[in-house]
Amino acid sequence: MDKEAIIQSLRELAQYLELDGENPFKIRSYLKSAEILEHIQEPIETLIESGTLRNLEGIGEAIEKKILAWYHDEPVPALEKVKSKYPSSLLELFSVQSLGAKRIRSLFDNLQITNLDDLYKACLEGKVSTVTGFNKKIENKIIESIDLLKQWKGQFLLSHGYDVAKKMIEKLKNIIDRDNIYIAGSLRRYEETIRNINLLLLTEDKETIKQNLHALFPEINKENIKSFVSLKCFDIPVLINFTSNDDFGTQFVWNTGSKHFVDLLIQHCEQKNLCLSQQGLLNPNGIPINCNTEENFFELIGLPYLSPELRNIYDDMDFVYKNADNLVKMEDIQGIVHCHTLYSDGRNSISELAEYCIHRGFRYIVICDHSQSAGYANGLSIEDIKKQHEEIEKLNSIYKPFQILKGIECDIKSDGSLDYPNEILDAFDVVIGSIHTKLDMDKTTATQRLLKSIKNPHLDILGHISGRLLLSRKDYPLEMDTLLKACSEHNVSIEINANPQRLDIDWKNIYKSKKYNIKYTISVDAHNIEGIEDAIYGVYIARKGILKSTDILNCKNVEDFKNWFKKKI
Ligand SMILES: [Zn+2]
Ligand SMILES: [Zn+2]
Repeated sequence: MDKEAIIQSLRELAQYLELDGENPFKIRSYLKSAEILEHIQEPIETLIESGTLRNLEGIGEAIEKKILAWYHDEPVPALEKVKSKYPSSLLELFSVQSLGAKRIRSLFDNLQITNLDDLYKACLEGKVSTVTGFNKKIENKIIESIDLLKQWKGQFLLSHGYDVAKKMIEKLKNIIDRDNIYIAGSLRRYEETIRNINLLLLTEDKETIKQNLHALFPEINKENIKSFVSLKCFDIPVLINFTSNDDFGTQFVWNTGSKHFVDLLIQHCEQKNLCLSQQGLLNPNGIPINCNTEENFFELIGLPYLSPELRNIYDDMDFVYKNADNLVKMEDIQGIVHCHTLYSDGRNSISELAEYCIHRGFRYIVICDHSQSAGYANGLSIEDIKKQHEEIEKLNSIYKPFQILKGIECDIKSDGSLDYPNEILDAFDVVIGSIHTKLDMDKTTATQRLLKSIKNPHLDILGHISGRLLLSRKDYPLEMDTLLKACSEHNVSIEINANPQRLDIDWKNIYKSKKYNIKYTISVDAHNIEGIEDAIYGVYIARKGILKSTDILNCKNVEDFKNWFKKKI
């Protein structure tokens, strides 16, 4: 088994044991080990061969033994035992909101429910609400949640898509030069979620490459290698298309999409007496027109070049074209905002995060751990804040001119108030306010809760406004226009949360907000060093929303960034 499969097995074991009512500490230790493995830098082979697996904090003898067994493709008795008691399809139920292990077990025992379809049917028949511990409200929530799961089926997070694409490219490098492998499709357009990975291979010898592909991926049926190849990599469908130099520009545009954008191009070409199709670009006499770059393609059809992430549906395409050249870029980002540390639920220390930012050329970092009510994430007590601020001051004298700013991700409580008294909030350079609890709100409740926090002069940035977790939790309903207007009036910056699970605020709302002149902050919501690199996703979301660097607070230098917040009180 490889590392991913071992991590998966650890999580699976934890779920089975939870169903079985096993000791919660034991369950947590498996989940913790999975998390540790997920974040180690060294290849698992090295750790196993050098016998240092158990040196990792949290991996004891029993877990090490299991990992070794999985690594050598041997069965793990503890897993086999619980697996024999419950059908594997029962684990699907963990993805349903409002269902934990106890409820799943109860559905299994009382209604013999073993999979999502059974559960959906039983809910529709009103059987679930008759089981002790359930009621009509929960039953309806389950139906709603399964409907969403159906809607999300076959979709993947953008970051997962990039991880898998990188692995595919590593493999493909065995048969084709890296420079001739191009990522196209929704990944290249930085869509929040993707359905497949679209790769374009540039070659003058398609037949040889196709044969080599078959050798590389024996699962591809040789007979089926036609104009493109499709296969699966880590569950994601991968489409591989081929192009030669003459036609590269057209094919890159065609394979990048979006479908809507390409349809617009087809119409545009028709007006110019050109024909655009999957076969390429043809002149009025049906003769192929060569174009070897995308820029060349756009020039030929008489349109300005448009970056892939902007090939969306916009109601005002002229506005998009007019601003397309001046949008925010990764190089414009001067400070990294919203980093969790070991003080709350982060995995790295302040100094580790700061040193990484220095190494990456950023000028400042804003540390934002969770606030005191966030018991679920080890939120900071007033005592912890004092300690953290002392540490930051000490580190600042070492790292200058780089600066570590004192921030907090302060819970917005259910009544809309912030989670510390004013004199404590005064001690921070930056206060991000976010909702983490009591998420089940109607539109008025959610809007009023956020509105109250926006009106609080201590709030600097509104964090992950909609509360959505892509492909796992729906956003709560909001009167978005009211909130955008209020943020503008009260000088509250809106966070573009770049964590690939969130990408919140939705870029379509950013685009709609242009009349309010809102200042945004691209924040990483990082829980470890790697999370800092998520900033790139935030930049692309901002670009989709047609934002320039002047619209983004952390494109400012540290003094101007800090002063912007001071000005508001
Ligand atoms: Zn948060
Ligand atoms: Zn956070």
